[in-house]
Order: sequence, then structure tokens, then C-alpha cells
Amino acid sequence: MKILVTGGAGYIGSHMVRTLGEKGHDVVILDNLCTGFRESVLYGRLVVADLADRAMLDELFLSEKFDAVAHFAAYIVVDESVREPAKYYRNNFVNALNLIEACIGHGVDKFIFSSTAAVYGIPNRVPVAEESLLLPINPYGASKCMVEQVLHDVSRSGRLRHVALRYFNVAGADPLVRLGQRSKDATHLITVSLRTAIGMRKELSIFGTDYDTPDGTCIRDYIHIDDLIHAHMLALEHLSGGGASRVFNCGYGHGYSVREVVQMVKQITGIDFPVREVDRRDGDPPALVADSLSISKELGWKPIHDDLAYIIKTAWEWEKKLHGKR
Ligand code: UDP
Repeated sequence: MKILVTGGAGYIGSHMVRTLGEKGHDVVILDNLCTGFRESVLYGRLVVADLADRAMLDELFLSEKFDAVAHFAAYIVVDESVREPAKYYRNNFVNALNLIEACIGHGVDKFIFSSTAAVYGIPNRVPVAEESLLLPINPYGASKCMVEQVLHDVSRSGRLRHVALRYFNVAGADPLVRLGQRSKDATHLITVSLRTAIGMRKELSIFGTDYDTPDGTCIRDYIHIDDLIHAHMLALEHLSGGGASRVFNCGYGHGYSVREVVQMVKQITGIDFPVREVDRRDGDPPALVADSLSISKELGWKPIHDDLAYIIKTAWEWEKKLHGKR
């Protein structure tokens, strides 16, 4: 198939491009490189451009006859979205709408969308299932929720079928150490912890120790990037086989607290770095754990890396390579 991957130079998108390329698909990557890296594109043709540019999209869709689109390009920093909401609505919502309109206009009817557990806000029950209420508590989650709504309505009009995957906490790296989380100002817990271990940061802050959880810190469902990419490949097969639009959670169904993750990072790296307990961070729900029964049942998704130690080990190998230390 010929597939357009937006955000294919970013963390998750680049792993998708790798897998599509390895499986022999023809891949075009659209990325403005605002947070992505040219070197992360292992296969296909990279077009450096912005989804805000409708004329560019029309030209691209005219010259390349895509069979499907996988849309990863987005901003992802929750507390930044609280400080700068318009920036998030423009990039994550308006630009996604441009892409969806281009698909409709050019007859591309298969769309895979990177959604997020942040669409649930603070779920009143964990593990949280797809039918739960969508009540995002930050503009990041709200912007993704709005795209899901558009995709839902467009699906009903019969113009485009989609699979929206609601990611829980994606972490880890390519086992061959070619790709991983790369951004200089990463905010995600595992990456920040590893960079503290490596000495790039003085200390790790734990944001909030007074949550209503067993050890007072937030609980998250960490999923290895390769299990997540496998879910995308199954979603693509589903749509190619004529499957209907669907929304699926992607997580393992159990979580770890911030303290447990930090402890595991210390164990894997063998480095005892300084940790400071500070106030809660804006927009953080206490616990987010996926009920992933639907994707297992309907697409046959079977994760093979449900192991926090493996997730952290692959991320550690990548950090060491990226920063050339140890
Ligand atoms: N976290 C933390 N210190 C950090 C980064 C994250 O205590 O330096 C916490 C954060 O408050 C949340 C959990 O780790 O409870 C996971 O945050 P992350 O940013 O990795 O992912 P999110 O769940 O926000 O998508």
C-alpha cells in the first residue's frame, strides 16, 4: 500500500514508518520537523511541510495516490496545552481537519488516528473502557477528542473509515536501537528519569505525592512502542479488509506509580539519582489504566512486551546511544 504518515519523523510516527518500510509498503512522510528529526525517517520519502498548508496537501494528494493515512503529527505536552490552548487547538484540531478534508476530497478512505487516554479526563472507574464518558480536563485531551468527534461524524456520512487508537503511556524504543524518544526537552517520566540518571539533569521531580493512590503518586499504564505499532498495523489490516470505523484503547490493563517507575529506572541503570517531591502538575489525572479487551477481541492484538523492565531497558539503550555516554 501507499501510506501517508504525518509526524513520521517523531517518536511514535518514526517507529510506524520503520515497520511499514520493513513490511514493504510505500511510505510518504509529512513532517514540519518542529519536534521531529530527519534522521529518524528510516524508510520512504520525507516531505518537509506543514499541515496548515491546504494547497500543499492538495498537491501532495493529487500527485501521490494514497491508500491510507496514519496521522501522528500533533503537540503532546499536557501542561503546555493548559498554558497555550490555542496553539493546541490549531495544530491538533484545525490541522487534523485539513488532513481529513484532503482525504475526503481525494477519495482516501482509510484513516488511522493517534488519540490519547487524555480524552477520558479523570475516569470514575479504572481500567477505563472505550464507552466511558469523554470529559478531557486539559486542552490537549480536548483537541484530540474533537478530532475523534469529526472522524465519527465523517464516518457516518460514509466518506472515510477510521481507527482511532487511544494511547496510554507509550515508552521504550526500537530494540535495534535505531529509534527512540529524541526531543531535547522531553517531559515524559521514563525519558526524564533516564536523562537524570545519565547526568543531563540534576534531579527528577515527582509531581504530587498526595493523590488518592496506594503510594500517593500517579498511576499510569506504560505500553512499549512496538506493541503500540503492532496495534496500528492491525488497524490498517482491519480497514484494508473493509472493516468499519472503530475506537480502541491501547494499554496493558495495569499500571505503575511514579515511584515504582523511578525505582525501576534506578534498578535498570544501576544509578541512584536525586529525586525531589514537588507539587502536583496541572492537568494530571490520578490514575489512567486501559481496558484493552476490545482491541484484543476485535483485532486479535496480543502485546508481547508487557514488562516495565523491558520498556525501560530499551529506552535506556537508546538514551545511551543518543547522548553518547556510558
Ligand atoms: N511525572 C513526574 N515527573 C516528571 C515527569 C512526569 O512525576 O518529571 C509524572 C506525571 O505527573 C504523571 C506521570 O509521571 O503523573 C506520567 O507523566 P508523563 O508526562 O510521562 O505522561 P502523561 O501521563 O502526562 O501522558
